[in-house]
Amino acid sequence: MNTTQTTDKAEYTVKKEPQPAYPSSSPILLHACCAPCAAPSVERLLENGQAAVLFYSNSNIYPYEEYLKRLSHVRRLADFFTVDVIEDTWDHDAWLKAVRGLENEPEGGKRCQVCFAFNLARTRKKADELNLELFTTTLTLSPHKNSPAIFSIGNRLGGFLKENFKKKDGFRRSLQLSKELNLYRQSYCGCEFSMRNTLPNSKNSGYLSDSQSSPDSGNSPDSQSV
Ligand code: SF4
Repeated sequence: MNTTQTTDKAEYTVKKEPQPAYPSSSPILLHACCAPCAAPSVERLLENGQAAVLFYSNSNIYPYEEYLKRLSHVRRLADFFTVDVIEDTWDHDAWLKAVRGLENEPEGGKRCQVCFAFNLARTRKKADELNLELFTTTLTLSPHKNSPAIFSIGNRLGGFLKENFKKKDGFRRSLQLSKELNLYRQSYCGCEFSMRNTLPNSKNSGYLSDSQSSPDSGNSPDSQSV
């Protein structure tokens, strides 16, 4: 059975496919977009008895100094939770080629879907190389990211665990862990095109604002908008 979920931005059909066996006997490859999103995601997987390896694959992030800064904080949380981090190649030219023609799309639009697909395809490939059954992504924790769109892309790749890390107060836990671990909270999504949404005098709390809510955080019993 399929269900259609509509948001302000777009409509996505999410197939009701059976979840892969979870927890898996082998570690899950967790695509980590940034430390504030990765921290509560790793915590949840570990609490569920699922070992995890972080995969930092973010060719979308610009400039390179910003990419490195986010990576250093991902390493910090990985040390805290005693999990490994694998860094992908930063291939921003390939990413720019993938989103060509979509530069002026608004955040949450078609460029972002291509961006999700770019990073998730690389994560799927890495999982295959490492002989890991499952992969998923911390992208679903962000209030700015549409989880049904991410699930749709992940389902097409196969071996994808549909975990919406926003649920069960995920974003609130992100705020707590970011404070406790002194994690860097960026002021824009990542690419040069998302910088234009950044206020000139914004501090690092601007993008991951404490009061953000998301299109799919919902009011379901196991979730709350924060
Ligand atoms: S705004 Fe964020 S998700 Fe969208 S294309 Fe840029 S980096 Fe990717």
